[in-house]
Amino acid sequence: MELKDKVAAVTGAGKGIGKAIAERLFREGALVSLWDIDFNLVKDLSKKLDSSGKNILSIKADVTEEDEIKSAVEQTVKSWGKIDILVNNAGISRHKTISEMSVDDFMQVIWVNLTGTFICCKYVVLEMKKHKRGKIINISSLGGRTGRPGVGVNYAASKAGVISLTQTLARELGGYGIYVNAICPGPILTEQTKQYPREVFESWNAGRAIQRDGFPEDISDAVVFLASEKSDWITGFSLDINGGIYIC
Ligand code: NAP
Repeated sequence: MELKDKVAAVTGAGKGIGKAIAERLFREGALVSLWDIDFNLVKDLSKKLDSSGKNILSIKADVTEEDEIKSAVEQTVKSWGKIDILVNNAGISRHKTISEMSVDDFMQVIWVNLTGTFICCKYVVLEMKKHKRGKIINISSLGGRTGRPGVGVNYAASKAGVISLTQTLARELGGYGIYVNAICPGPILTEQTKQYPREVFESWNAGRAIQRDGFPEDISDAVVFLASEKSDWITGFSLDINGGIYIC
């Protein structure tokens, strides 16, 4: 088991990619703190994974609410003494054209995807610094790497911001033994993306080199690598996982 006795916190862990990441970290031996805006989702996942209730915490934590994140960090540290791994996965998209998009539409996505990532980093880093060790993995997007048709400028800008935050934080924290990387997924089949007509999903995959869809497990495998000691000389990196839609 790659992550035995490590303590991991995962935001937006209730469903989709975050759920797959949380499950995978747990199976690799980590104690996992599940954070989501919807408490029932993380409570159900916790019951499914760990009937003893000793190795998983479920916490209602909206990443845009500073007090909730502070409290989630405190509850996790109170239970297990530290946080070794933070996965900033919570994210939303609200696509509109720029003419249709209000300032509120723009800021809502920036707040969850970018400010939420900042808030979680801020409070978890305080704990990681005490132990002079930590791994932060920020889930960005192909949309933040290249700009993509159909994602909305709010989403693309928020995810580009996550890449920049990752690079700058990696420089700031390298001396503390805290390593910060991002993952930029291409289109991934989740309950949410399955709701789109198949032809829409396929249009997002135009030009893909690998002839199969992307699944949440494609992302969670990479998270385990970036959370483990096997990636100890990698920081400030953004890993593209998109089946070869974007090759640079
Ligand atoms: P998802 O299925 O919508 O799951 C996201 C989870 O985060 C949901 O449980 C959601 O709760 C929760 N959440 C939303 N706002 C939150 C907040 N303010 N605080 C805490 N939790 C919150 O999304 P996903 O497709 O798995 O995506 C996960 C991440 O990967 C996101 O950052 C997304 O941008 C990124 N990504 C996804 C794809 C893709 O194709 N799926 C591609 C590239 C990047 P509610 O459902 O109640 O809002």
